Amino acid sequence: MPSCIICGRTKNQTSKAANISFHMFPKDESDKIKWNNFLIKNFLNPENVTISSLVCSLHFDKSCFILNKSRKLLKRQPLHP
Ligand SMILES: [Zn+2]
Repeated sequence: MPSCIICGRTKNQTSKAANISFHMFPKDESDKIKWNNFLIKNFLNPENVTISSLVCSLHFDKSCFILNKSRKLLKRQPLHP
């Protein structure tokens, strides 16, 4: 089961029911730096991030999302501090 690299929350029925979404790391280098800085703030090593690493929506500000009919889309925005 995929899980959040920051809090370890697993993508399952419970997270789905709580409306928590999971997001992959951005491919854009400048965006990736912001995400990496966020990891460092959380005492995590960005070198441990893989292409399958995910961050759950609890670590983003509501303003970071565009709400679509069917799913939450993440804007190209930094994580909240
Ligand atoms: Zn999380």
